[in-house]
Amino acid sequence: MAFELRPLPFDKHALEPAMSATTLDFHYGKHHAGYVKKLNELVKGTDLENAGLETVIQRTNGKKEQQGIFNNAAQVWNHDFFWDSIAPNGGGETPELIRKQLEQAFGSLENFKDRFVDAAVARFGSGWAWLVSKNGKLEIVTTANAEVPFTSGAHPLFTCDVWEHAYYLDYQNDRAGFVKAFLKSLVNWQFISKRLTETKAA
Ligand code: FE
Repeated sequence: MAFELRPLPFDKHALEPAMSATTLDFHYGKHHAGYVKKLNELVKGTDLENAGLETVIQRTNGKKEQQGIFNNAAQVWNHDFFWDSIAPNGGGETPELIRKQLEQAFGSLENFKDRFVDAAVARFGSGWAWLVSKNGKLEIVTTANAEVPFTSGAHPLFTCDVWEHAYYLDYQNDRAGFVKAFLKSLVNWQFISKRLTETKAA
């Protein structure tokens, strides 16, 4: 059973103007698709071939000789999660459950957004900015390259891809502008609420 490129959960024009169809053509159609293809090539004939994606990530995490498998598996997971983290007509009103927790953790919703943008901009090179739940507390973390927070026990609530391929066609070098647009017009609060509920159930 090969790993599959999951269909995008929205039309490629549906996020405009915050994220263009051209960006999605490359980001989803070339980069994300490329990770899936490469992962399948790398695990072919190994005992990871029929494992679940999260199992592949956990089993190859930190193993130098399996770095290539880890990178591609984690990038497939990260991109699936990123597409779930955004939605057409995203942003907008923050549901009460998540808003209260963000206020508790960061003082105010505005302060959370400012800190999220700062963290995303401060991530040097390629990586990801995340809101996670860890030990019952909400935290902003960033990871380098393909790394995922769940290998260190954090439950991801949403993520923003800050690799240049995520924003360069629409925002050029303005990563802060992209992350602000992500929070204002793309972020899928319903998905985050669902993830938060899963944490509570866990
Ligand atoms: Fe990406």
